[in-house]
Amino acid sequence: MTSLSGKTALVTGSTSGIGLGIALALAQRGANLMLNGFGDAEGPLAAVRALGVQAIHHGADMSKANEIEVMMKAADERFGGVDILVNNAGIQHVALVEDFPTEKWDAVIAINLSSAFHTTRLAVPSMKARKWGRILNIASAHGLVASAQKSAYVAAKHGLVGLTKTVALEVATSGITCNAICPGWVLTPLVQKQVDAKAAALGVSNEEAKRLLVGEKQPSQTFTTPEQLGELAVFLCSDAASNVQGAAWNMDGAWVAQ
Ligand code: NAD
Repeated sequence: MTSLSGKTALVTGSTSGIGLGIALALAQRGANLMLNGFGDAEGPLAAVRALGVQAIHHGADMSKANEIEVMMKAADERFGGVDILVNNAGIQHVALVEDFPTEKWDAVIAINLSSAFHTTRLAVPSMKARKWGRILNIASAHGLVASAQKSAYVAAKHGLVGLTKTVALEVATSGITCNAICPGWVLTPLVQKQVDAKAAALGVSNEEAKRLLVGEKQPSQTFTTPEQLGELAVFLCSDAASNVQGAAWNMDGAWVAQ
């Protein structure tokens, strides 16, 4: 079993959903954790600490470069640097391009894309000094293909896949790997909002809206789980994955195979 004992992981947006699933999987393998994200941090912190590792939470807003810098300094001071960086924080907004509020566009690009640039530029020097690092960018099936009404999200996620490839090239000989994970539908609060919108628009039940949402894009007809994504993250942190570099690894029930 992969041991990440002695490593420190920073998972942005880990108070909920996929980020929390990945944080728990890394903690299960012994990594200390810096959690980040809005809302209740005490529950996630307790769940991570129950696995026997050290964990702290930093509430930096991922849309703000100066707050990201403060968070990265705090990680350095508390843990001596970040070995595993998981850029996961993200938001969604659904609208036709001509109706897309410009402040929503700016927020989606800042949180889903620019934050990964800032954390990465600040984490790489100490990873290089230690000759080991893992950068995991949580992109999306929407990093590889598009859907209507998601212009900002699709642009940000394609950008994140591009950033992944560039960083992977730059660190290819330094013991650091940089990869993207591209999930399809995962039933988290981010997606539940889209389920609710579909249920309201079509006048159908929550269960029927879920079935329709998944059925439309995801041939497996089932949601991927945060736990499954956590195990993929653990694999990408393992020695066996040291030569997986610059990949955009989909876990999407064959969504992008179509
Ligand atoms: P979620 O809403 O459950 O969690 C999002 C997390 O990001 C939360 O912890 C939230 O507090 C945090 N966050 C949001 N804005 C932030 C900000 N400005 N600063 C700091 N933290 C902030 O969503 P999720 O579904 O778990 O999404 C996690 C990532 O996975 C996102 O990048 C999302 O695009 C991606 N993703 C999700 C799905 C899916 O189907 N759920 C599919 C593909 C990709």
